Amino acid sequence: MPGSSVSIVEVDKYFGDFHVLKNINLEIKENEFFSLLGPSGCGKTTLLRIIAGLEDVDDGDVLLDDKSIIHLPPNKRPVNTIFQNYALFPHLTVYENIAFPLRLKKLSENEIKEKVDWLLSLTRLEEHAKKKPNQLSGGQKQRVSLARALANEPKVLLLDEPVSALDAKLRQELLIELDNLHDKVGITFIYVTHDQSEALSVSDHVAVMNNGVVVQYGTPYEIYESPADTFVATFIGESNLMKGTVKDLISENYVLVEFPTLGEIVCFKDKPVNIGDDILITLRPEKIRISHLKPQLSSDSYTNVVHGVVDETIYMGYQTKYFVRTDDGYILKVYKQHASYLLDEKIIQWKDEVYMYWNPDDSFIVEVERVD
Ligand code: ATP
Repeated sequence: MPGSSVSIVEVDKYFGDFHVLKNINLEIKENEFFSLLGPSGCGKTTLLRIIAGLEDVDDGDVLLDDKSIIHLPPNKRPVNTIFQNYALFPHLTVYENIAFPLRLKKLSENEIKEKVDWLLSLTRLEEHAKKKPNQLSGGQKQRVSLARALANEPKVLLLDEPVSALDAKLRQELLIELDNLHDKVGITFIYVTHDQSEALSVSDHVAVMNNGVVVQYGTPYEIYESPADTFVATFIGESNLMKGTVKDLISENYVLVEFPTLGEIVCFKDKPVNIGDDILITLRPEKIRISHLKPQLSSDSYTNVVHGVVDETIYMGYQTKYFVRTDDGYILKVYKQHASYLLDEKIIQWKDEVYMYWNPDDSFIVEVERVD
């Protein structure tokens, strides 16, 4: 099933006086798994409904394969939507739910059977074909709604928080299935979620939205490793955000930053800055190494080393989260994977004195306050 590209061009949308979408521009490539990610109320469902034709725009256009679809009613658009609440017909069997759109198209009984059987096997529902929706688990119900949506052979599948009604383990399972299904059917998926781990794990590209604006577009790697601003840095994953002042420009790529609560730290200069600028730095907790021993570094190393005392530990099974109070009173979050315990002489515990160290490439600038 070939998919379509989708272009969102300068889309504005108001609900009364409320400007819910502000000049949205997005290019979604054909056959990709694309996610709209943002906190509740940022406008992602409204954008999805505009693509589906369930909401009008106040300005701008929506193109499918470079042709405007803005004047087409929902049933004339080659898109299908999967909702959080499944929207299945309770009185019909799984088989008949999936067959429903095919019967509307007046396909022959043979054609319907061939297609439904294929969709049942694609979504691994063969043994449930005769059941009614109330005899299925949440994950199975969502697979039926996926199969029914795919029966229409859409060019774009819109998925509005499709796994959010399931418990954590089922969410993970269905997400993997969705990813596999996307590989098999090959059409364009546009996935709406407020859950960053969902978006990062399955998407080719992600658009992060906040307050009706796309604040960053990129691959999951780009979004996580190089957040565009403080909002993205804190919304995606966890971060140590630290405010400091540029003290020296060490080289083309590195600056020395003075932090009132951390001392002098070398940071990656990913934005133009001058000496004296106040800047905000982000540093992911899992990028920091923690040890009882002071690291032995060569004199030309830029590696940052900070001393502190463990203030709190949270054991998570696969990792431990440490909150470490530095000598100047800053609490630094440090996450340590348990496999690395093998290398350590002793498990780090509450009240232990520790050294934390990290590569300057991992502490980079997210905001600059110019002092001109
Ligand atoms: P969620 O994850 O909670 O669904 P969202 O990012 O999908 O959030 P939208 O459903 O697009 O957000 O809603 C964006 C904003 O627009 C919200 O403040 C919501 O209250 C408002 N809104 C949505 N639909 C309407 C409507 N029909 N009339 C008025 N306001 C609306």
